[in-house]
Amino acid sequence: MPGLEFIDKEELNEIKDIFNNGGVLFRQGFENLRKNTFKVLEFEKKFSQFMSTKHSLAVSSGTAALRVALATLNLKKTDVVITQSFTFVATVEAIIESGAKPMCTEIDETLNMDPNDLEKKITKNTKAVIVVHMLGVPARLDRIKKICNKYNIPIIEDTAWGCGGKYNNKYLGTIGNMGTFSFDFAKTLTTGEGGMITFKNKKDFDKAKAWHDHGHDNNPKVPRWEDTRSSSGFNFRMTELQGAVGLAQLKKLKKIISLQRKNAKLIWNELKDLHGLKIRVSPSNSFETFDSLIITLKDKKKAISCRKELLKVNISTKILPEATTWHFAKYWNHMPELSSSYKKSLKVSFPKSEKILLKCVSIPINCKMEKNVPIIIKNSIKRVLKLD
Ligand SMILES: *Cc1c(COP(=O)(O)O)cnc(C)c1O
Repeated sequence: MPGLEFIDKEELNEIKDIFNNGGVLFRQGFENLRKNTFKVLEFEKKFSQFMSTKHSLAVSSGTAALRVALATLNLKKTDVVITQSFTFVATVEAIIESGAKPMCTEIDETLNMDPNDLEKKITKNTKAVIVVHMLGVPARLDRIKKICNKYNIPIIEDTAWGCGGKYNNKYLGTIGNMGTFSFDFAKTLTTGEGGMITFKNKKDFDKAKAWHDHGHDNNPKVPRWEDTRSSSGFNFRMTELQGAVGLAQLKKLKKIISLQRKNAKLIWNELKDLHGLKIRVSPSNSFETFDSLIITLKDKKKAISCRKELLKVNISTKILPEATTWHFAKYWNHMPELSSSYKKSLKVSFPKSEKILLKCVSIPINCKMEKNVPIIIKNSIKRVLKLD
């Protein structure tokens, strides 16, 4: 639980700064009240600088970020957007809300998109691919980019769990056409609720910016109430309060990532010699955020008893194995828009993902970790490995 571990006076001071300067809580306008205080605009600018990218747009959530990114693509009912079977429901929900048909690929040992299955699932109707960097490990972007370039399909990187991670020395979220981030309360940075989109092209940025704000062109020649419009839109704006917290959190990102990496290594050093245990595979040239340390056991039964043993010593797990119903497409028959994309039931449509995923246990990495935690985890897992 990183970002939330560091909510402190820096965040509060950024908020106070708004109230000391007119208390304008809206991202733009009201110039004579706000004494040049623009928290959301500044957060966007600093985020772009951090990520070495040109354009960033702050929005109200990570789900909104996906929805707004998809709005730049003018999707129709017959268009298909492909994502992966292991993600949060939000990725598929955003595709459904955009009016397109969702489709999920299998995952491979990285627990992210299986490039071979992606290529099999692409058809002439495929209009975008949303690749997810689940729980801090980059997807196989080299291969996925090659495939998408071949078929001329834009890539959106769902970086909700990958903020601050890198691949080939570039920040995750800046490698595809667009990258989306979440700042909900469980993510690497938090603004309570919030999100960000990064863009390769100014054209996409302009379109997204208007769309997330009812289609406002922000035409400098006219006041806002007479503003020009080129399309309809919606309201996914971030408030100044969120922007203020985001500014303070962003300054802590490097520290958060280095502590997560350090603590994950301390835990893995204790576990690595245990027999019957493997660590999640990450692609070469990855710089992982280590939001979680994911280990693989012999089978589903062992994964479940591993969670039970860890809970006994007050160590929780995160998503795997206990929350697969929210994160694995096999269980999403409540979304007919998804299940109708498959010939068979979703329950049997991801055999490869299931085989990999249900043996996994995800140990959340805290930045503020007690010294004895790695040993406690080791002893619990040793007990599980002995059980048969
Ligand atoms: C958290 C998350 C989202 C949604 O973000 P919210 O800010 O909670 O709306 C989207 N995709 C993935 C993979 C996530 O984990």
